[in-house]
Amino acid sequence: MNAELIAVGTEMLLGEIVNTNAAYLARELSRIGVESYFQQVVGDNPQRLDAAISTAEGRSEMIIVMGGLGPTPDDLSKQTLAAHLHRSLVTDADHLAKLVDLAKRRQHPITPNNRVQAQLPDGATPLFNHNGLAVGAYLQEGAHQYVLLPGPPREFRMMVDKELIPLLAGNQQEILASRTLRYFGLGESALVTAIKDIIAEQTNPTVAPYIKDYEVTLRLTVRGTDETVMTAQLDELTAKIQTRIGDYYYGTGEDTTLAEVAVAQLRAQKATVTAAESLTAGALQASLGSVPGASNVFAGGFVTYSAAMKEKMLGITPDIIATHGVVSAETARAMANGARQQLNSDYALGLTGVAGPDELEGQPAGTVWIGISGPAGTHAQEFHLAGLRNEVRARAVKSALMMLLQALKKNKSI
Ligand code: ATP
Ligand code: MG
Repeated sequence: MNAELIAVGTEMLLGEIVNTNAAYLARELSRIGVESYFQQVVGDNPQRLDAAISTAEGRSEMIIVMGGLGPTPDDLSKQTLAAHLHRSLVTDADHLAKLVDLAKRRQHPITPNNRVQAQLPDGATPLFNHNGLAVGAYLQEGAHQYVLLPGPPREFRMMVDKELIPLLAGNQQEILASRTLRYFGLGESALVTAIKDIIAEQTNPTVAPYIKDYEVTLRLTVRGTDETVMTAQLDELTAKIQTRIGDYYYGTGEDTTLAEVAVAQLRAQKATVTAAESLTAGALQASLGSVPGASNVFAGGFVTYSAAMKEKMLGITPDIIATHGVVSAETARAMANGARQQLNSDYALGLTGVAGPDELEGQPAGTVWIGISGPAGTHAQEFHLAGLRNEVRARAVKSALMMLLQALKKNKSI
């Protein structure tokens, strides 16, 4: 099954609003295995909408019209689709009752244009609007399926989630299951190169890479009829992928974060962590603090922006910074060691680097040293992080969390 989305609204053509509905729906459709090859945006104009529907019919199986279901004269999507299919508009009794009820409560008379909101093309299945008055519609004709959805995102998303997706998923004999594997520390092209053949060969399950917030995720999607078999298929593919890029893997799940996994691992090992942060100025500790239950593993830490504060708060001997510079392996290690000693924690991270835009000590923006101190000793790693100042800082936080996870992993296997 493939679908073409048509967003209706002159505001989008003028650049006044962004077509977020299309992005939302495209993603939800891809999750249930409905493919999209084309999208259109058309103004509030019946002739052009009619032409857009015809164009879509020539190349797509399902045509989804978004917006233009309201009561104002420029809302003509429903009328246009009905005319296109030579169908009349009929009133949906439930939605009319909803309108009548609301009108009563507000003590407003129902106007004829209100009534239109309860109408749908003859023969269509109504899609309930949980957040508004305009009814949506789903219908089949010949080889095509047609869908009408309201424009306001609150109404739109609810109708997609609660009405359209369940309906489409129910139409499919097979069920879908997916799993999201999360990686950090290697770029999208490196990752895709490492598993290029797997991506190309796989048809069931499929593998789709996404990049977001400096991380790469792989979404594995399997179709089938038996959940046990499907889980086994996902497990098998996961294992194959992990032999190639498992070093960069940190967790599974749609919304899982590095900080969450780090806190969970620390809790599992009953270990504590602290940090001394220079260029990130507390962002690493803030990310730990955002995880519920962080207090079990994190008691406090340091923001040591200047060299003087590094020495004063962490007890670093002045000649380390004087000899090696503030952005150096030695300083990163000394920061981690100092923080760990001060708080008597199991692990500590020390972050020092050049956030930019200017260089520091002759080192370019993006040069970052991260030290880690733990039961297995202390070491530091150099990073050359890309991006503007705050991108460098965000990447530095994630790099530090990844180092912590790697240290925890090693400790566990010993
Ligand atoms: P209404 O009853 O509000 O008129 P409608 O179903 O007729 O709803 P539109 O008139 O097309 O929808 O759009 C209403 C509002 O919804 C727009 O002003 C805009 O804020 C938002 N909207 C419409 N289409 C989109 C879209 N594709 N992406 C994001 N927002 C949208
Ligand atoms: Mg409108």
